[in-house]
Amino acid sequence: MDKIKAFEVLGLTPMIDGKLTNEQITAVKGLGFLRDKRFPDVFNARVITGNGKITTDTNRIILEAADKFGSSEVAFTSRMTVEIQGVKYENIPSLILFLKEHNIEVGGTGPRVRPVVSCKGTTCHFGLIDTFSLSMKIHERFYLGYHGEVLPHKFKIAVGGCPNNCVKPDLNDIGIIGQRIFTPDKDKCKGCKKCAVEEACPMKAASLKDSKIEIDASVCNNCGRCYKKCPFGAFDVASEGYKICIGGRWGKKTGRGTPLPKIFTSEDEVLNAVEKAIILFRDEGIKGERFADTIERLGFSYVSEKIIG
Ligand code: SF4
Ligand code: SF4
Ligand code: SF4
Repeated sequence: MDKIKAFEVLGLTPMIDGKLTNEQITAVKGLGFLRDKRFPDVFNARVITGNGKITTDTNRIILEAADKFGSSEVAFTSRMTVEIQGVKYENIPSLILFLKEHNIEVGGTGPRVRPVVSCKGTTCHFGLIDTFSLSMKIHERFYLGYHGEVLPHKFKIAVGGCPNNCVKPDLNDIGIIGQRIFTPDKDKCKGCKKCAVEEACPMKAASLKDSKIEIDASVCNNCGRCYKKCPFGAFDVASEGYKICIGGRWGKKTGRGTPLPKIFTSEDEVLNAVEKAIILFRDEGIKGERFADTIERLGFSYVSEKIIG
């Protein structure tokens, strides 16, 4: 397809007399093209990876696109997207159509659900949940599914596999953190001189009281390090869980999200909670405010009730 036809297909307008209008720059920004401040008509294309993991085939297409339409360079962003560098305005429509042919999306800008950020919890030694799978579901249901929904501000979601918080989930509008929930079988506890559970606990939440193991729930972060550590099987029963923090942000203003007063026990529950949060933000947020501001204005218990209820 020639370049003029490609502009028509995407509803964009070509440059006139070598100059771009603000409307043209804004239009391509909405499609994931951020202007390189050093040049009037050169952009970086933000390629969406879904959950931060891409195949070699996808990689090859991205690199081919960078050669054909950009400056043969790609840059990795802090939020798991890949930027094709140095794309001239005249090449933007052709690049979008070329990537589309291979089911690769550009985007991730504006007051919408932003690309989800995931840690490698699926394969990480400490991972307690399948972060890649959950992140892909979030990507499909909310990044793609809610793309047409304009929100009061950007809405960032991150998924971390355990309380080590490598992707800093609680600095996002919604942060999901893998948990392991224990039901210690105290009857099996023998009150050993040297307790293997106590030794394994990095939070110092486990200790012996009257020769029986006790977990201080206010200190335990459900990291799961004590799982199966007891030689007498007192810590062999556990289930997967998800903590959700809401209202975190990092940028001009910073603040950690607040955990919802419940540990979620299935992916479905988590996805439904995320959806309720997005809908609440869409319907009750005021244009220009981040989710943290909405929560502050409406009150945490009101928002939390709406998400959990
Ligand atoms: S947050 Fe936990 S699971 Fe994810 S990469 Fe870090 S240590 Fe691994
Ligand atoms: S929890 Fe297990 S290791 Fe710890 S004192 Fe009880 S029996 Fe011993
Ligand atoms: S889950 Fe983690 S913090 Fe809680 S008792 Fe076990 S090791 Fe300690």
